[in-house]
Amino acid sequence: MSQFCEQLKTAGLPLTTHRIAILEFMADNHSHPSAEDIYSALHQKFDSMSKMTVYNNLQTLVSSKLLQEIDIDKEKARYDCITATHHHFYCNVCKKIYDVALECPNLNHETMDGHAIESVQGYFFGTCRECRAG
Ligand SMILES: [Zn+2]
Ligand SMILES: [Zn+2]
Repeated sequence: MSQFCEQLKTAGLPLTTHRIAILEFMADNHSHPSAEDIYSALHQKFDSMSKMTVYNNLQTLVSSKLLQEIDIDKEKARYDCITATHHHFYCNVCKKIYDVALECPNLNHETMDGHAIESVQGYFFGTCRECRAG
């Protein structure tokens, strides 16, 4: 059994070809793809995969914490297979999203000023090293 089937089983989700394909794609593409990116990459391989299927599956995978949804891109949600809290850098030029390895003292708080924290997302915006070099 692949690690993806294992993950789905642990999350109590039925194993579907589409779900496994999406998880596989996400593990191989760490560019934080959008639903459209995932759909364009996979729909040729899977005739029955519609945009709606991709959106619905992403929703399910996010609620089961197998994927993380990040809102750094104002135009569309982007997805990440790393579900542990980490920060992101968004390139305003090429729209690529990079993981930022940064120790942050605020990451491990469960509450702050009496508020219960459910997620932490740190965003940085600018021009990435590839665009700066070009
Ligand atoms: Zn860039
Ligand atoms: Zn990330």
